[in-house]
This record gives sequence, C-alpha cells and structure tokens, in this order.
Amino acid sequence: MTLTLGVDLDGVVFDLMTPLLAQYNKDYDDDMTREDITNFRFEKDRFKCGRLAYNYLYDPRIQFASPFFEGAEKVLKAFMLHDDIDVIFATATSRAVMPAKLAKIESAFPSTYYPYGFYLGRDKTKVDCDVFIEDAAHNVLSMLNKNKQVIMPDRPWNREALPNIHHHESWFDEENRMLLVIRSLGWEHIRKLVLELV
Ligand SMILES: [Mg+2]
Repeated sequence: MTLTLGVDLDGVVFDLMTPLLAQYNKDYDDDMTREDITNFRFEKDRFKCGRLAYNYLYDPRIQFASPFFEGAEKVLKAFMLHDDIDVIFATATSRAVMPAKLAKIESAFPSTYYPYGFYLGRDKTKVDCDVFIEDAAHNVLSMLNKNKQVIMPDRPWNREALPNIHHHESWFDEENRMLLVIRSLGWEHIRKLVLELV
C-alpha cells in the first residue's frame, strides 16, 4: 500500500515570505518581518501598500529567490525514492510564476530520478492523497471539512487560526507532529525513514 502525500509549495517547501518581505521593505522603506504576517490576507496585515502586496506573488524573481525550508529537500528526496511513498506537489500559484517554480523544483528534484506528481489549481481538496501538508489556514479548513488528514507547519500566519490541528515545526524535529501523524496512520517505517535523516 502506498502513502500518498500532498505537499503545498509556498510556505511548506519554499520560504517565499522571506524574499517577498525583503523586496517589499526595500520598495516601501519598511521593516516588516515574517512575524508581522498574522493573517495571510495581505490587506489585513500591516503592509503600507495594502492589497498591492499581492503583486509580489506574481513576481518570478521572488519565486526564484525563495529558499527551501531546512530539511525539505532531503526529506522529500527520500520520500520520492521510497517505493511506498508518492509525492504530489500542489499549488494555486498563478501561471505567471509557474515556470520559475517548476524550474526550482526540477533543479532540486530532476524528474528523471525523483518521481512526483503535480497539481495546479485553487481547490487543493481535489488532490487525491492520504495526507496533505498545507500552511494556509483557509485551505486547511477546507480539507478538514472534507475529512482529509492535514498537517500544518507552524507559521506566523496560521498560529491563531487552528490551534487544535496537527502542527509540525520543521522537516526534521524528532518529536515533530508531521511524523506523529504519519505514525498514527500506520506508517511507522516512514517515520523511521525521516528520523534516519536527522
Ligand atoms: Mg502555502
């Protein structure tokens, strides 16, 4: 039996917010940090430019500049090479920045060696997977409403939204809840696989 993992990209695999805020701070002479993003609805966060902050999401340079979260590449590679695990990357990203995003994924995980699926669309509940890893609270809620198993990485913009769902701190932490959820699904060998990478 195969465990299929749905994996969101921005905020889960890629740290998009760091280069986004660096560019915004430069453009608007501000000093915002990730901790200031408490909402993920940019018009409600404290951007001086309000809704215009969304435009940064359509800038390929910011996509290219987003680093991988620590451990993400290593753990995902191990998952992809494991016979019992399928990975499906899923993103609602605009098509304007898809080439940048795909180029980053392909350079880290050349598909000749690392098999993965890909879903591009707004409704990630359509991704057919056993567990989904997602950072945006509104998406997590939609998945929970459809009885999907979800793991939510701890980010400043989802801390208050859903205190009772499975959080994980990083891709590597031994006690992290991502691994606890995977174990609760009966995939202890996959938990061990990740722990071997620590
Ligand atoms: Mg995300």
